[in-house]
Amino acid sequence: MRSILIIGGGLIGAASALRLQHAGVRTILIDPGDQRRGASFGNAGHLGPEQVMPWSTWANVSGAAGRAFGLGGALDFRWRDIGLWTPWSLAFLQACAPARVAASHAALSAILEDTMPAWKRLAALAGDAGIVRDHGHMALWMNPARADAGLKAWARTPVGKVRLREWSEAELARYEGVLRARPAAGLFFEGPGQVRDPQGARDAMLAAFEAKGGEIVTDSAVRVHEDGRVDLASGMARQADALLIAAGAWSRPLMAQLGVHAPLIGERGYHVHSPEHAWPEDLPTTFFEERTMVVSRFDSGLRATSFIEFGAPGAPADARKWARLEGHLRALGVRFAANPQRWVGPRPALPDYVPAIGRLKRAPKVLYAFGHAHLGLTMCAVTAELVLALAEDKAPALDIAPYALERFG
Ligand SMILES: Cc1cc2nc3c(=O)[nH]c(=O)nc-3n(C[C@H](O)[C@H](O)[C@H](O)COP(=O)(O)OP(=O)(O)OC[C@H]3O[C@@H](n4cnc5c(N)ncnc54)[C@H](O)[C@@H]3O)c2cc1C
Repeated sequence: MRSILIIGGGLIGAASALRLQHAGVRTILIDPGDQRRGASFGNAGHLGPEQVMPWSTWANVSGAAGRAFGLGGALDFRWRDIGLWTPWSLAFLQACAPARVAASHAALSAILEDTMPAWKRLAALAGDAGIVRDHGHMALWMNPARADAGLKAWARTPVGKVRLREWSEAELARYEGVLRARPAAGLFFEGPGQVRDPQGARDAMLAAFEAKGGEIVTDSAVRVHEDGRVDLASGMARQADALLIAAGAWSRPLMAQLGVHAPLIGERGYHVHSPEHAWPEDLPTTFFEERTMVVSRFDSGLRATSFIEFGAPGAPADARKWARLEGHLRALGVRFAANPQRWVGPRPALPDYVPAIGRLKRAPKVLYAFGHAHLGLTMCAVTAELVLALAEDKAPALDIAPYALERFG
């Protein structure tokens, strides 16, 4: 293959574009150019090789009611989008069957195993090894009873090759001056990393891509064709030897044009972001377990993320969720701007929480890489290497059969 059109310039599209262009494939990246639209802009910056278990499990189903937004939890469904999430939820329930969970667990374990080395290779290719750092992350509890239950739950949960270690009293004292109260317990994950800034990482990849001769077209694909042609919103058309569909949660209608069902949903998350803060650089990314909220320190400021809101990718935001995040930060005593930056965006989620990466059997000029749900930042480096192997028709570093979209029929 000598040329490829990539649709979507989120982390998956940007990382793939850089890999392909570097390998000598003439690569054209098509994206409307609104940085804030996709999940890649607003994520928590965590590289999480420990997340080897899919979200589609009976344990998650049985605990769902207690996690409802109306009861103070992070889970919500947009009623207006019931037509989207009803069939998706049925497929999710099917993915909870024990054999499916085992298959998803194996697929996630395989793709997550090389996370940190692959990210370091990607950062080097982007010309900035400092994008990524070995940082570890922390699960923190403020309530002793919840801490006890939470620590027991983590002891039962597979986490791949990541090591867990409970922090001592002295280590927990590092949260003094950051939180109003001393945490009851903290479980440190050794192995995961962090990017210094998610948008900064994407910018670095795109700059390196252009420096290597890659072309960015600021436009939207309105129609994709099996022969590698794409019609654009501007009325122009582009053609290449192959296509890569990497449009995150918006990939579904594009795949439908090719006659393929991609059961994607927007699993929307929210963040508030404050340039002003007092979070030390060496304190790990922290997951406040009782509040289902992640706090991450980036070069651009402190960010709190949360929520799983099923609905259309571009639906209007629910401002109550930002207010809830700001309330959590106040209650914990975290220093934050009075009027923080606010953001909502869709994680591209498939019912089994395994990404879709492959080549369409019925249209071999079409490659696809989407559906990375909670782990698109984590997996973009490995995904880009798999995409390159597909494009070059070489054996990929791992068996990619489990990621084939055809698994959904
Ligand atoms: C609150 C939150 C926290 C998260 N935290 C983490 C984390 O800590 N670690 C982690 O690994 N992951 C995290 N994620 C998940 C991660 O951000 C996503 O999995 C990842 O960003 C998906 O990347 P993507 O490129 O597939 O999609 P996106 O980032 O959504 O990009 C898709 C791009 O395609 C473009 N596009 C859409 N339609 C078209 C079209 N027709 N033509 C051209 N372009 C088009 C869009 O405009 C967009 O730019 C988080 C997500 C959220 C929401």
